[in-house]
Amino acid sequence: MTGPGGAIAADVRAGRRTARDVLEDHLGRIEGREAEIHAFNRVLADEARSAAGEVDRAVAAGQDPGPLAGVPVALKDNLCTRGIPTTCSSRILDGWLPPYDATVVSQLRRAGAVIVGKTNLDEFAMGSSTENSAFGPTRNPHDLSRVPGGSSGGSAASVAAGFSALALGSDTGGSIRQPAALCGVVGVKPTYGLVSRYGLVAFASSLDQIGPFATTVADAALLLDAISGHDAMDSTSLPGEVPSAAAGLDQGVEGLSIGLISELMNADGMEPDVLARCRQAADALTAAGAKVDEVSVPAVAFGVTAYYLIAPAEASSNLARYDGVRYGLRVPGTDITAMYGATRSAGFGAEVKRRIMLGTYALSAGYYDAYYGKAQRVRTLIVRDFEAAYERFDVLLAPTTPSTAFEIGAKTGDPLAMYLSDVCTIPSNLAGHPAMTVPFGGGDDGLPIGVQVLAPALGETVMFRVAATLERAALGQAGPDRPGETAP
Ligand code: GLN
Repeated sequence: MTGPGGAIAADVRAGRRTARDVLEDHLGRIEGREAEIHAFNRVLADEARSAAGEVDRAVAAGQDPGPLAGVPVALKDNLCTRGIPTTCSSRILDGWLPPYDATVVSQLRRAGAVIVGKTNLDEFAMGSSTENSAFGPTRNPHDLSRVPGGSSGGSAASVAAGFSALALGSDTGGSIRQPAALCGVVGVKPTYGLVSRYGLVAFASSLDQIGPFATTVADAALLLDAISGHDAMDSTSLPGEVPSAAAGLDQGVEGLSIGLISELMNADGMEPDVLARCRQAADALTAAGAKVDEVSVPAVAFGVTAYYLIAPAEASSNLARYDGVRYGLRVPGTDITAMYGATRSAGFGAEVKRRIMLGTYALSAGYYDAYYGKAQRVRTLIVRDFEAAYERFDVLLAPTTPSTAFEIGAKTGDPLAMYLSDVCTIPSNLAGHPAMTVPFGGGDDGLPIGVQVLAPALGETVMFRVAATLERAALGQAGPDRPGETAP
Protein backbone atom coordinates (compact mmCIF):
# COMPACT_ATOMS: atom_id res chain seq x y z
CA MET A 1 0.00 0.00 0.00
CA THR A 2 1.53 3.33 -1.05
CA GLY A 3 2.22 5.25 2.11
CA PRO A 4 2.52 8.96 2.80
CA GLY A 5 6.30 8.84 2.15
CA GLY A 6 5.92 7.34 -1.33
CA ALA A 7 3.01 9.65 -2.14
CA ILE A 8 4.91 12.77 -1.07
CA ALA A 9 8.01 11.81 -3.07
CA ALA A 10 5.90 11.13 -6.18
CA ASP A 11 4.06 14.45 -5.85
CA VAL A 12 7.17 16.50 -5.17
CA ARG A 13 9.12 14.90 -8.04
CA ALA A 14 6.23 15.58 -10.41
CA GLY A 15 5.89 19.18 -9.22
CA ARG A 16 2.34 18.62 -7.89
CA ARG A 17 3.37 19.69 -4.37
CA THR A 18 6.29 21.60 -2.99
CA ALA A 19 8.56 20.19 -0.33
CA ARG A 20 8.04 23.43 1.60
CA ASP A 21 4.26 22.86 1.72
CA VAL A 22 4.70 19.28 2.84
CA LEU A 23 7.13 20.38 5.53
CA GLU A 24 4.85 23.15 6.84
CA ASP A 25 2.04 20.59 7.20
CA HIS A 26 4.25 18.39 9.32
CA LEU A 27 5.64 21.29 11.37
CA GLY A 28 2.02 22.28 12.00
CA ARG A 29 1.25 18.83 13.39
CA ILE A 30 4.38 18.99 15.55
CA GLU A 31 3.23 22.39 16.81
CA GLY A 32 -0.16 20.87 17.63
CA ARG A 33 0.89 17.81 19.66
CA GLU A 34 4.61 17.76 20.41
CA ALA A 35 4.19 19.42 23.81
CA GLU A 36 2.14 16.45 25.06
CA ILE A 37 4.01 13.67 23.20
CA HIS A 38 7.65 14.80 23.42
CA ALA A 39 8.85 12.77 20.44
CA PHE A 40 11.79 15.10 19.79
CA ASN A 41 14.91 16.17 21.62
CA ARG A 42 15.25 18.85 18.95
CA VAL A 43 13.05 19.96 16.05
CA LEU A 44 15.20 21.22 13.16
CA ALA A 45 12.68 23.62 11.63
CA ASP A 46 15.22 26.04 10.09
CA GLU A 47 17.47 23.33 8.69
CA ALA A 48 14.41 21.50 7.35
CA ARG A 49 13.05 24.64 5.67
CA SER A 50 16.32 25.21 3.90
CA ALA A 51 16.59 21.52 2.84
CA ALA A 52 12.99 21.63 1.52
CA GLY A 53 13.81 24.84 -0.35
CA GLU A 54 16.72 23.08 -2.06
CA VAL A 55 14.50 20.19 -3.09
CA ASP A 56 12.00 22.64 -4.58
CA ARG A 57 14.76 24.51 -6.44
CA ALA A 58 16.02 21.23 -7.89
CA VAL A 59 12.53 20.30 -9.12
CA ALA A 60 12.04 23.79 -10.59
CA ALA A 61 15.37 23.42 -12.42
CA GLY A 62 14.19 20.15 -13.96
CA GLN A 63 16.39 17.93 -11.79
CA ASP A 64 15.27 14.87 -9.83
CA PRO A 65 15.98 15.32 -6.11
CA GLY A 66 15.74 11.55 -5.52
CA PRO A 67 13.47 8.77 -4.29
CA LEU A 68 12.72 10.54 -0.97
CA ALA A 69 12.16 13.97 -2.52
CA GLY A 70 10.65 16.26 0.10
CA VAL A 71 9.79 13.44 2.51
CA PRO A 72 10.00 14.55 6.17
CA VAL A 73 12.15 12.07 8.13
CA ALA A 74 12.95 12.04 11.86
CA LEU A 75 16.27 10.68 13.18
CA LYS A 76 16.87 8.90 16.45
CA ASP A 77 19.20 11.10 18.46
CA ASN A 78 22.01 8.53 18.46
CA LEU A 79 22.65 9.13 14.74
CA CYS A 80 25.41 11.66 14.17
CA THR A 81 24.44 14.88 12.44
CA ARG A 82 27.29 17.23 11.57
CA GLY A 83 27.25 20.38 13.71
CA ILE A 84 23.87 19.45 15.24
CA PRO A 85 23.73 18.17 18.84
CA THR A 86 23.54 14.37 19.06
CA THR A 87 22.76 13.56 22.66
CA CYS A 88 21.75 9.88 22.93
CA SER A 89 19.36 11.39 25.52
CA SER A 90 22.31 11.45 27.92
CA ARG A 91 23.79 14.27 29.95
CA ILE A 92 27.26 12.93 29.25
CA LEU A 93 27.12 14.18 25.63
CA ASP A 94 26.02 17.64 26.75
CA GLY A 95 27.46 20.22 24.35
CA TRP A 96 28.97 17.69 21.92
CA LEU A 97 28.64 18.46 18.21
CA PRO A 98 29.47 15.59 15.83
CA PRO A 99 32.11 16.54 13.25
CA TYR A 100 30.45 14.36 10.60
CA ASP A 101 27.12 12.95 9.39
CA ALA A 102 26.31 9.26 9.83
CA THR A 103 26.34 7.44 6.48
CA VAL A 104 22.55 6.99 6.66
CA VAL A 105 22.15 10.73 7.15
CA SER A 106 24.23 11.46 4.03
CA GLN A 107 22.22 8.85 2.12
CA LEU A 108 18.95 10.49 3.21
CA ARG A 109 20.16 13.93 2.16
CA ARG A 110 21.28 12.58 -1.22
CA ALA A 111 17.86 10.93 -1.71
CA GLY A 112 16.11 14.29 -1.21
CA ALA A 113 14.71 13.64 2.29
CA VAL A 114 14.03 16.54 4.66
CA ILE A 115 15.30 15.89 8.19
CA VAL A 116 12.79 17.37 10.64
CA GLY A 117 14.38 16.56 13.98
CA LYS A 118 16.26 14.34 16.38
CA THR A 119 14.04 12.01 18.38
CA ASN A 120 14.06 11.01 22.04
CA LEU A 121 15.34 7.59 23.15
CA ASP A 122 16.26 5.62 26.23
CA GLU A 123 19.74 6.83 27.19
CA PHE A 124 22.26 5.24 24.79
CA ALA A 125 19.36 3.08 23.50
CA MET A 126 19.21 1.07 26.74
CA GLY A 127 15.58 0.45 27.55
CA SER A 128 12.18 -0.54 26.23
CA SER A 129 9.99 2.44 27.10
CA THR A 130 11.89 5.71 26.39
CA GLU A 131 11.57 6.47 30.11
CA ASN A 132 15.37 6.20 30.59
CA SER A 133 15.91 9.55 28.83
CA ALA A 134 17.73 12.38 30.60
CA PHE A 135 15.15 14.68 29.00
CA GLY A 136 11.97 12.97 30.23
CA PRO A 137 9.77 10.30 28.66
CA THR A 138 8.02 10.25 25.30
CA ARG A 139 4.30 9.44 25.41
CA ASN A 140 2.36 7.07 23.18
CA PRO A 141 0.31 9.10 20.66
CA HIS A 142 -2.54 6.55 20.99
CA ASP A 143 -2.81 7.03 24.77
CA LEU A 144 -0.72 9.61 26.59
CA SER A 145 -0.71 7.61 29.82
CA ARG A 146 1.19 4.81 28.05
CA VAL A 147 4.79 4.37 26.95
CA PRO A 148 5.60 4.38 23.22
CA GLY A 149 8.03 1.49 23.76
CA GLY A 150 11.74 1.93 23.31
CA SER A 151 14.42 2.59 22.93
CA SER A 152 13.49 4.35 19.65
CA GLY A 153 10.22 5.59 21.20
CA GLY A 154 10.59 9.12 19.83
CA SER A 155 10.94 7.88 16.25
CA ALA A 156 7.96 5.53 16.60
CA ALA A 157 5.82 8.29 18.15
CA SER A 158 6.88 10.77 15.47
CA VAL A 159 5.63 8.51 12.69
CA ALA A 160 2.50 7.45 14.60
CA ALA A 161 1.56 11.09 15.28
CA GLY A 162 2.20 12.17 11.69
CA PHE A 163 5.11 14.45 12.71
CA SER A 164 7.23 12.81 10.03
CA ALA A 165 6.27 10.42 7.24
CA LEU A 166 9.27 8.23 8.06
CA ALA A 167 11.89 7.83 10.76
CA LEU A 168 15.11 5.98 11.47
CA GLY A 169 15.90 4.15 14.68
CA SER A 170 18.41 1.60 15.89
CA ASP A 171 17.66 -1.95 17.02
CA THR A 172 20.08 -3.83 19.30
CA GLY A 173 17.53 -6.13 20.95
CA GLY A 174 14.22 -4.84 19.62
CA SER A 175 14.42 -1.06 19.80
CA ILE A 176 12.81 -0.52 16.40
CA ARG A 177 10.31 -3.39 16.34
CA GLN A 178 9.03 -3.11 19.92
CA PRO A 179 8.16 0.63 19.83
CA ALA A 180 6.80 0.28 16.28
CA ALA A 181 4.43 -2.43 17.52
CA LEU A 182 3.30 -0.41 20.54
CA CYS A 183 2.71 2.70 18.41
CA GLY A 184 0.91 0.87 15.58
CA VAL A 185 3.48 1.43 12.84
CA VAL A 186 5.81 -0.71 10.70
CA GLY A 187 9.38 -1.18 11.98
CA VAL A 188 12.26 -3.07 10.39
CA LYS A 189 15.53 -4.45 11.74
CA PRO A 190 17.59 -5.29 8.67
CA THR A 191 20.19 -8.07 8.35
CA TYR A 192 23.30 -7.22 10.39
CA GLY A 193 25.66 -5.42 8.00
CA LEU A 194 23.05 -4.45 5.38
CA VAL A 195 22.87 -0.83 6.56
CA SER A 196 26.02 1.09 7.49
CA ARG A 197 26.48 1.79 11.19
CA TYR A 198 29.06 4.52 10.55
CA GLY A 199 27.96 7.45 12.70
CA LEU A 200 25.55 5.43 14.85
CA VAL A 201 26.69 5.89 18.45
CA ALA A 202 27.69 2.36 19.48
CA PHE A 203 25.79 0.46 22.18
CA ALA A 204 26.52 -3.25 21.50
CA SER A 205 28.39 -3.37 18.22
CA SER A 206 27.76 -7.02 17.34
CA LEU A 207 23.98 -6.43 17.61
CA ASP A 208 23.26 -2.80 16.60
CA GLN A 209 21.48 -2.15 13.30
CA ILE A 210 19.80 0.97 11.90
CA GLY A 211 16.36 0.59 10.31
CA PRO A 212 13.16 2.32 9.23
CA PHE A 213 9.84 3.26 10.80
CA ALA A 214 6.91 3.91 8.45
CA THR A 215 3.14 3.81 8.41
CA THR A 216 3.03 1.27 5.59
CA VAL A 217 5.13 -1.67 4.45
CA ALA A 218 5.80 0.01 1.08
CA ASP A 219 7.10 3.13 2.79
CA ALA A 220 9.37 1.01 4.99
CA ALA A 221 10.71 -0.67 1.82
CA LEU A 222 11.30 2.72 0.20
CA LEU A 223 13.37 3.92 3.15
CA LEU A 224 15.23 0.63 3.67
CA ASP A 225 16.22 0.41 0.00
CA ALA A 226 17.52 3.99 0.20
CA ILE A 227 19.92 3.20 3.07
CA SER A 228 21.01 -0.39 2.25
CA GLY A 229 24.38 -1.16 0.74
CA HIS A 230 28.08 -1.48 1.35
CA ASP A 231 29.96 1.30 3.12
CA ALA A 232 33.74 1.23 3.36
CA MET A 233 33.48 3.32 6.55
CA ASP A 234 31.89 0.42 8.46
CA SER A 235 34.07 -2.69 8.69
CA THR A 236 31.01 -4.85 9.43
CA SER A 237 29.15 -3.64 6.33
CA LEU A 238 28.39 -6.52 3.95
CA PRO A 239 29.89 -6.49 0.48
CA GLY A 240 28.00 -7.72 -2.57
CA GLU A 241 24.43 -7.92 -3.73
CA VAL A 242 21.81 -6.01 -1.71
CA PRO A 243 18.35 -7.58 -1.41
CA SER A 244 15.50 -5.33 -2.58
CA ALA A 245 12.72 -4.84 -0.06
CA ALA A 246 10.46 -3.20 -2.67
CA ALA A 247 10.77 -6.27 -4.93
CA GLY A 248 8.80 -8.31 -2.40
CA LEU A 249 5.82 -5.97 -2.10
CA ASP A 250 3.58 -7.38 -4.82
CA GLN A 251 4.69 -11.00 -4.90
CA GLY A 252 2.22 -12.41 -2.39
CA VAL A 253 2.89 -15.54 -0.33
CA GLU A 254 1.54 -18.30 -2.57
CA GLY A 255 3.64 -21.43 -1.99
CA LEU A 256 5.71 -20.07 0.91
CA SER A 257 6.14 -22.12 4.07
CA ILE A 258 5.85 -20.12 7.24
CA GLY A 259 6.72 -21.32 10.74
CA LEU A 260 5.02 -20.03 13.85
CA ILE A 261 7.67 -20.07 16.61
CA SER A 262 6.22 -22.09 19.53
CA GLU A 263 8.66 -20.82 22.17
CA LEU A 264 7.77 -17.19 21.44
CA MET A 265 4.03 -17.89 21.35
CA ASN A 266 4.50 -19.23 24.88
CA ALA A 267 6.96 -16.56 26.02
CA ASP A 268 6.91 -15.07 29.52
CA GLY A 269 4.03 -12.65 30.04
CA MET A 270 2.43 -13.28 26.61
CA GLU A 271 -1.07 -11.77 26.70
CA PRO A 272 -3.97 -13.73 25.16
CA ASP A 273 -5.07 -10.84 22.89
CA VAL A 274 -1.59 -10.59 21.35
CA LEU A 275 -1.50 -14.34 20.83
CA ALA A 276 -4.94 -14.27 19.21
CA ARG A 277 -3.84 -11.58 16.72
CA CYS A 278 -0.75 -13.62 15.88
CA ARG A 279 -2.90 -16.68 15.17
CA GLN A 280 -5.24 -14.56 13.03
CA ALA A 281 -2.20 -13.35 11.10
CA ALA A 282 -1.17 -16.97 10.52
CA ASP A 283 -4.69 -17.77 9.28
CA ALA A 284 -4.61 -14.78 6.95
CA LEU A 285 -1.34 -16.02 5.45
CA THR A 286 -2.82 -19.50 5.00
CA ALA A 287 -5.82 -17.93 3.25
CA ALA A 288 -3.38 -16.05 0.99
CA GLY A 289 -1.80 -19.34 -0.16
CA ALA A 290 1.02 -19.98 2.31
CA LYS A 291 1.50 -23.17 4.29
CA VAL A 292 1.74 -22.33 7.99
CA ASP A 293 2.89 -24.72 10.73
CA GLU A 294 4.19 -24.40 14.27
CA VAL A 295 7.94 -24.84 14.64
CA SER A 296 10.16 -25.20 17.67
CA VAL A 297 13.30 -23.05 17.78
CA PRO A 298 14.34 -24.22 21.27
CA ALA A 299 17.33 -21.95 22.01
CA VAL A 300 15.32 -18.73 21.49
CA ALA A 301 14.00 -19.34 25.00
CA PHE A 302 17.49 -18.34 26.27
CA GLY A 303 17.70 -15.20 24.15
CA VAL A 304 17.04 -12.65 26.90
CA THR A 305 19.53 -14.33 29.25
CA ALA A 306 22.32 -14.40 26.68
CA TYR A 307 21.54 -10.88 25.48
CA TYR A 308 21.77 -9.37 28.97
CA LEU A 309 25.34 -10.65 29.24
CA ILE A 310 26.52 -9.92 25.70
CA ALA A 311 24.93 -6.47 25.26
CA PRO A 312 26.12 -5.04 28.62
CA ALA A 313 29.59 -6.54 28.04
CA GLU A 314 29.90 -4.73 24.72
CA ALA A 315 28.32 -1.58 26.18
CA SER A 316 30.79 -1.46 29.07
CA SER A 317 33.58 -1.40 26.52
CA ASN A 318 31.91 1.03 24.09
CA LEU A 319 30.98 3.52 26.82
CA ALA A 320 34.49 3.65 28.28
CA ARG A 321 35.20 6.49 25.84
CA TYR A 322 32.97 8.95 27.76
CA ASP A 323 35.62 10.07 30.18
CA GLY A 324 35.18 13.84 30.32
CA VAL A 325 38.15 14.35 28.01
CA ARG A 326 37.00 13.59 24.48
CA TYR A 327 33.26 14.27 24.45
CA GLY A 328 30.66 16.51 26.07
CA LEU A 329 30.34 16.83 29.81
CA ARG A 330 33.29 17.30 32.18
CA VAL A 331 32.88 17.57 35.94
CA PRO A 332 36.16 18.79 37.48
CA GLY A 333 37.95 16.74 40.17
CA THR A 334 41.14 17.08 42.20
CA ASP A 335 43.03 14.74 39.84
CA ILE A 336 42.24 12.94 36.61
CA THR A 337 40.80 9.83 38.29
CA ALA A 338 38.47 11.96 40.38
CA MET A 339 37.47 13.88 37.23
CA TYR A 340 36.62 10.60 35.40
CA GLY A 341 34.57 9.41 38.36
CA ALA A 342 32.72 12.69 38.86
CA THR A 343 31.99 13.03 35.13
CA ARG A 344 30.67 9.50 34.73
CA SER A 345 28.67 9.65 37.98
CA ALA A 346 26.94 12.86 36.92
CA GLY A 347 26.72 12.09 33.21
CA PHE A 348 25.19 8.61 33.09
CA GLY A 349 21.71 7.65 34.28
CA ALA A 350 20.90 4.65 36.48
CA GLU A 351 20.21 2.11 33.72
CA VAL A 352 23.42 2.93 31.85
CA LYS A 353 25.40 2.55 35.08
CA ARG A 354 23.68 -0.79 35.73
CA ARG A 355 24.67 -2.05 32.26
CA ILE A 356 28.28 -0.87 32.63
CA MET A 357 28.57 -2.69 35.96
CA LEU A 358 26.90 -5.87 34.68
CA GLY A 359 29.08 -5.87 31.57
CA THR A 360 32.31 -5.19 33.44
CA TYR A 361 31.49 -8.03 35.82
CA ALA A 362 30.66 -10.46 33.01
CA LEU A 363 33.98 -9.70 31.31
CA SER A 364 36.20 -9.78 34.39
CA ALA A 365 38.90 -12.41 34.95
CA GLY A 366 37.44 -15.48 36.63
CA TYR A 367 33.88 -14.74 35.42
CA TYR A 368 34.48 -14.35 31.70
CA ASP A 369 34.05 -18.05 30.84
CA ALA A 370 31.10 -18.55 33.15
CA TYR A 371 29.14 -15.55 31.87
CA TYR A 372 30.31 -13.92 28.65
CA GLY A 373 31.78 -17.11 27.18
CA LYS A 374 28.69 -19.14 27.99
CA ALA A 375 26.38 -16.47 26.56
CA GLN A 376 28.36 -16.58 23.31
CA ARG A 377 27.86 -20.35 23.19
CA VAL A 378 24.11 -19.86 23.66
CA ARG A 379 24.24 -17.34 20.83
CA THR A 380 25.72 -20.05 18.58
CA LEU A 381 22.91 -22.43 19.59
CA ILE A 382 20.32 -19.81 18.62
CA VAL A 383 21.98 -19.39 15.21
CA ARG A 384 21.94 -23.18 14.70
CA ASP A 385 18.33 -23.57 15.76
CA PHE A 386 17.28 -20.82 13.34
CA GLU A 387 19.32 -22.52 10.58
CA ALA A 388 17.47 -25.78 11.23
CA ALA A 389 14.11 -23.97 11.11
CA TYR A 390 15.00 -22.24 7.83
CA GLU A 391 15.72 -25.61 6.23
CA ARG A 392 11.98 -26.22 6.45
CA PHE A 393 10.50 -22.71 6.39
CA ASP A 394 10.99 -19.65 4.20
CA VAL A 395 10.10 -17.22 6.99
CA LEU A 396 9.05 -17.41 10.63
CA LEU A 397 6.24 -15.63 12.43
CA ALA A 398 5.88 -14.55 16.07
CA PRO A 399 4.36 -11.84 18.20
CA THR A 400 6.54 -8.69 18.39
CA THR A 401 5.82 -7.90 22.05
CA PRO A 402 4.12 -9.83 24.86
CA SER A 403 1.58 -7.03 25.49
CA THR A 404 0.25 -3.74 24.15
CA ALA A 405 1.74 -0.46 25.42
CA PHE A 406 2.02 -0.41 29.21
CA GLU A 407 1.42 2.51 31.57
CA ILE A 408 4.18 5.05 32.08
CA GLY A 409 5.98 4.06 35.28
CA ALA A 410 4.64 0.48 35.32
CA LYS A 411 8.05 -1.18 34.85
CA THR A 412 10.57 1.46 35.88
CA GLY A 413 11.05 -0.12 39.32
CA ASP A 414 11.61 -3.62 37.93
CA PRO A 415 14.45 -3.88 35.38
CA LEU A 416 13.79 -7.58 34.72
CA ALA A 417 10.13 -6.94 33.81
CA MET A 418 11.34 -4.21 31.44
CA TYR A 419 13.94 -6.56 29.89
CA LEU A 420 11.25 -9.16 29.20
CA SER A 421 9.50 -6.71 26.85
CA ASP A 422 12.09 -7.81 24.27
CA VAL A 423 11.73 -11.55 24.64
CA CYS A 424 10.37 -11.91 21.08
CA THR A 425 12.73 -9.49 19.35
CA ILE A 426 16.15 -10.29 20.86
CA PRO A 427 16.74 -13.64 19.07
CA SER A 428 16.98 -11.98 15.62
CA ASN A 429 19.68 -9.58 16.87
CA LEU A 430 21.68 -12.45 18.34
CA ALA A 431 21.44 -14.30 15.01
CA GLY A 432 22.07 -11.19 12.87
CA HIS A 433 18.89 -11.92 10.93
CA PRO A 434 16.29 -9.44 9.62
CA ALA A 435 12.88 -9.12 11.28
CA MET A 436 10.05 -6.62 11.03
CA THR A 437 6.77 -5.80 12.71
CA VAL A 438 3.49 -5.05 10.95
CA PRO A 439 0.47 -3.58 12.77
CA PHE A 440 -2.24 -6.23 12.97
CA GLY A 441 -5.35 -4.95 14.72
CA GLY A 442 -5.76 -3.92 18.32
CA GLY A 443 -5.81 -5.48 21.78
CA ASP A 444 -8.60 -5.71 24.36
CA ASP A 445 -7.61 -2.19 25.45
CA GLY A 446 -7.93 -0.86 21.89
CA LEU A 447 -4.18 -0.28 21.58
CA PRO A 448 -2.14 -1.50 18.59
CA ILE A 449 -0.67 -4.98 18.26
CA GLY A 450 2.21 -5.90 15.94
CA VAL A 451 2.97 -9.23 14.33
CA GLN A 452 6.61 -10.05 13.66
CA VAL A 453 8.01 -11.58 10.47
CA LEU A 454 11.49 -13.10 10.79
CA ALA A 455 13.68 -14.14 7.85
CA PRO A 456 17.14 -15.66 7.30
CA ALA A 457 20.14 -13.38 6.66
CA LEU A 458 19.58 -11.23 3.56
CA GLY A 459 16.02 -12.54 3.30
CA GLU A 460 14.53 -9.02 3.17
CA THR A 461 12.69 -9.65 -0.11
CA VAL A 462 10.76 -12.65 1.18
CA MET A 463 10.22 -10.91 4.53
CA PHE A 464 8.56 -7.98 2.72
CA ARG A 465 6.40 -10.39 0.69
CA VAL A 466 4.93 -11.69 3.92
CA ALA A 467 4.72 -8.27 5.58
CA ALA A 468 2.86 -6.73 2.62
CA THR A 469 0.41 -9.64 2.63
CA LEU A 470 -0.20 -9.22 6.36
CA GLU A 471 -0.79 -5.50 5.87
CA ARG A 472 -3.44 -6.19 3.22
CA ALA A 473 -5.10 -8.69 5.57
CA ALA A 474 -4.91 -6.27 8.50
CA LEU A 475 -6.93 -3.72 6.54
CA GLY A 476 -9.86 -6.04 7.07
CA GLN A 477 -9.30 -6.01 10.86
CA ALA A 478 -10.72 -3.49 13.27
CA GLY A 479 -7.60 -1.64 14.36
CA PRO A 480 -6.80 1.60 16.11
CA ASP A 481 -6.66 4.69 13.90
CA ARG A 482 -3.41 6.55 13.59
CA PRO A 483 -3.84 9.61 15.77
CA GLY A 484 -3.17 12.91 14.08
CA GLU A 485 -2.70 11.31 10.70
CA THR A 486 -4.35 12.90 7.72
CA ALA A 487 -4.14 11.95 4.09
CA PRO A 488 -0.93 13.21 2.49
N1 GLN B 1 15.41 -3.04 25.27
C1 GLN B 1 16.67 -3.63 24.93
C2 GLN B 1 17.75 -3.08 25.84
O1 GLN B 1 17.42 -2.38 26.71
C3 GLN B 1 17.00 -3.38 23.50
C4 GLN B 1 17.42 -1.98 23.25
C5 GLN B 1 17.80 -1.73 21.83
O2 GLN B 1 17.44 -2.48 20.93
N2 GLN B 1 18.56 -0.68 21.64
O3 GLN B 1 18.90 -3.35 25.70
